[in-house]
Order: sequence, then structure tokens, then C-alpha cells
Amino acid sequence: MKRILNYIGGELVPPLGGAYLPNLEPATGAPYSEVPDSDSSDVERGVAAAQEAYPVWSRTPASERSRLLLRVAELIEDNAEDLARAESVDTGKPIRLARSLDIPRAASNFRFFATAILHFASESHATDHRAINYTLRRPRGIAGLISPWNLPLYLLSWKIAPALATGNTAVAKPSEITPMTAYRLSELCREAGLPPGVLNIVHGTGPKAGAALTGHPRVGTLSFTGGTKTGAEIASVCAPAFKKVALELGGKNPNIIFADALLDEVVPVSIRSSFDNQGQICLSGSRIFVERTIQEKFLERFVERAKTLVVGDPLEEATEQGALVSRAQFDKVMSYLQVARQEGGRILCGGDAASVGGRCSGGLFIRPTVITGLPVNSRVNQEEIFGPVVTVIPFDTEDEAVSGANATPYGLSASVWTQNLSRAHRLAERIQAGTVWINCWMLRDLRVPFGGVKSSGIGKEGGLEALRFFTEPRNVCIQFPVDPGGGTAS
Ligand code: NAD
Repeated sequence: MKRILNYIGGELVPPLGGAYLPNLEPATGAPYSEVPDSDSSDVERGVAAAQEAYPVWSRTPASERSRLLLRVAELIEDNAEDLARAESVDTGKPIRLARSLDIPRAASNFRFFATAILHFASESHATDHRAINYTLRRPRGIAGLISPWNLPLYLLSWKIAPALATGNTAVAKPSEITPMTAYRLSELCREAGLPPGVLNIVHGTGPKAGAALTGHPRVGTLSFTGGTKTGAEIASVCAPAFKKVALELGGKNPNIIFADALLDEVVPVSIRSSFDNQGQICLSGSRIFVERTIQEKFLERFVERAKTLVVGDPLEEATEQGALVSRAQFDKVMSYLQVARQEGGRILCGGDAASVGGRCSGGLFIRPTVITGLPVNSRVNQEEIFGPVVTVIPFDTEDEAVSGANATPYGLSASVWTQNLSRAHRLAERIQAGTVWINCWMLRDLRVPFGGVKSSGIGKEGGLEALRFFTEPRNVCIQFPVDPGGGTAS
């Protein structure tokens, strides 16, 4: 069985304690590789390697850092098909999604930050006629980068690329549930000639390897994407140590459809925002608010399409819905279907496991599920389920739509569908979310700030925000020479 290795100091190495965890293929339910069960000693090695590499990397010209990151992007592109397959096997997502979304985006992340750093500038402030202040931005040192399982290479590269582009060195800890493409990335970084220790990848569980990284005194910058509960735990460790932290957390995103929306566009995009990646996207629109006058028409078309989504072997081209990522995630989603029934929800389609035969007969599949009849304050409408499950909630007025949208602890993203431009602007201002999409979903521009509000996180990633996050601004104030005649020379 294939053994994944840690990437430390430029080498692929086994965990010091020699312990491994089984890595399951969700579509079959069977283990297919082993992932290091690293502990604090492996994290210590990773941090030591990052520290050794830091003095040279942080002074390496931006053009050279850029060249190396562009080389990584090229290698991802050269190996795109292999990586897509690896991502599909590891996560259970349809290979066509890995091919069209995960892997191209991982390459774009490297390419984007490799070129962004060449244009990154800082501010200067002239203080009357007395002085000039300029902002010196320096890398912050060693960054800890922790990522989840739903978009493994996509989200890990979204952190690695800006951290390295700005001259930090890093220790990354991918999700132990989906480690394979991070391992493949470490091989590609070696091939690209990334200097040893600039990036280190330590595999293992959150409580062991993750907590050791978070708590390490020499890791002063922490970028985390994952669940809200874990985020709170990480914040409680980082706050007393005054670490700089960005937390990208869970969501319970509203998808608001007004009667004047163009249903021909709304329905296919809402199918994607509900069920792409089996609903395991932090930005999934899991609560659909529909203006009551069109609810029936919308449901008829939406449910009909949801019923025809092809649930199957993720490696087959025709598959639209793959497996859920793990037994724990499968059980969690199934338990929410039970809660939905107890709360009086009406299940219009799905609501149970799907059986896919052949090699996938032991796989973790759930049919796309649409539920109505649940109030905004029900558990199903309040808690992040993170599976192929959406609720549909009618509304009569704009105010009702806004208050429903804002009625959860989360605030990651929202979609609004309307042809009324004034209303679109009003909602964009009133909805509590880090991103509001008007007449679209998941249309991403890597330059824009990305992140949540409320329990969806703190700090922003993306574009300049990421370059600023991974650098420390220092103000340098230079007074103009004093004129011996009394004033300042000008
Ligand atoms: P998770 O919080 O369980 O794990 C995320 C990562 O944190 C993993 O690498 C895990 O090993 C590590 N971890 C766990 N406990 C830790 C600890 N005590 N200290 C340090 N590290 C620890 O999340 P998950 O189940 O892997 O991912 C799903 C969640 O991620 C969902 O809530 C989803 O909404 C969220 N997510 C958010 C975004 C975003 O951009 N806001 C993007 C994707 C996923």
C-alpha cells in the first residue's frame, strides 16, 4: 500500500515515530494508502527546516521567488490529469470537477501570487513639510498553514503561494482525510527546485500535528481554513501568544431568488451551488429563499433536475455526484436528514443513501436532497450540514428575505437573483456576508478580498489582502533636514 511521506527540509521523509493512519477511498470505503500520523517532533523538524531556510528565502529577489512559483504552477498543469485523478480518489469528488475546478485553480493560485508579488507596493505619506513616512513590508517569518478536506489542493495552494511569494517560509498541515495531492505537490516542489525548507508539509491529525503547529512558539503567523469549532480552538491558542491569525470557517449561505429572476439561469446555477462537490463547499448555497409567487414553479424545475443528477463512481466521466468524504461526514449528513424529519421537514427528493454498485458498493453516497417546510430557526436551517442537502424557504418581502438570510451565526457568502438593480445593491449592503454574488455563484476573481464575517471567520485572503496578511508593515519616518534659519528645508 502506498505510503505518503512528510516533506521536510527538501526531503520526503517518514514520520519520526513511524506511525501511519489508513487513508480511505470514500467511493469504495476501503483503505488505499497510508498517511503519516506525525507528532510534535515532526512539526519541530519542519519548523527547524523553515527557520534555517528563512534568512536566504526572505532575501531572495521577488523575481526569483516568482520564477520558482511559476515553475510549480507549470508542473501542476503538466501533471493535471494525474492530480485530478488523485484528488477524485482521495475525496470522492467526480473527476470532472477535480479536472475543471480543483487542479486548474491550484495552478492559478501559484501563478496569481507569483506574478502579484512583482507588482506589490507599499505606501508613503508626506507629513506636511516636515517628514516622509514610508511603509516597509517585510515577511513575517514562519507561517503555519492548515487546510481542510473539501478542496484539498485548491485551498492548500491558496495559502502556500502568497506565504512563499512574500518571502515567508512555511510549515503546512493538510487534512489527514485527503493528504494525497499535498504529497504530490511536495514531489513537484522538489522537481521545481524550490530550496530545501522553504515549504515543509507535515501530515497528521488536527489534535496532534495541527495543534503542535498552532502552538509552536516560532510560528507567528497562522492561516487556517476549516470548521468554526476548530477555528475557535485555534484562536484560543493563538490569541494569548499574539500570533497573527486568519480564520476561514464554516458557512450556511443563503441563495435568494426574487420573482423577477431569470429562472433559466437560476435553476442550473442553484443546482451547482447546492450540490457541486456533494454540497461540501464552504460557499454552497444551502438555504434557498424563494419569493412565494414563484416557489412552485422554481421547485418543479429544481427538484426535477436534482432527481436526475447522476450519482456514481467518481472516476466515471458521466458522474455528477460522487461520494461523501468520510464515514464521519456521511453519518453526520444522514443524522441531519433524521433531524429534518423530526423537525417536520418535507423531503421532496433524496433523503437517503444512494447505492452505487460494482467497485463502489461499499461507498459513501447520499442522494441530492431538497427539503421544504422548515422554519428559519430550525436546526437544519441553522447548523452547517456540509452535504448534498438544501432547504427551500418561501418569503413575501425583501425585508423578510434579508432577515432570514442574516438569521444564522454564519456570514460567509450569499447569492441574490433579481433583475432589479436597486434591490440588488440594497441587499448587497444589508446581507451579512463576506461575499455577495448577484445573479451568479462562485464566480471568483483572485484579486478580491475573500473571507467571512460572524462565525464564518476573521481576516481576509485573496489578492492584496493575502500579501498584506503575510507581511508585517513597519513605519519608517524620516524627518527632512532642519533649516538652520529656523524652518525645515523644503
Ligand atoms: P476541520 O476544522 O475539522 O479541519 C480542518 C483542518 O484543521 C484539518 O487539517 C485538521 O486536521 C485541522 N485541525 C483539526 N483540529 C485542529 C486543532 N485542534 N489544531 C490545529 N489544527 C486542527 O474542518 P474540516 O472538517 O476538514 O473541513 C470542513 C470545514 O471547513 C467546514 O466547516 C467548511 O465550511 C470549512 N471550510 C471553510 C472554507 C472557507 O474558506 N471559509 C473553505 C473550505 C472549508
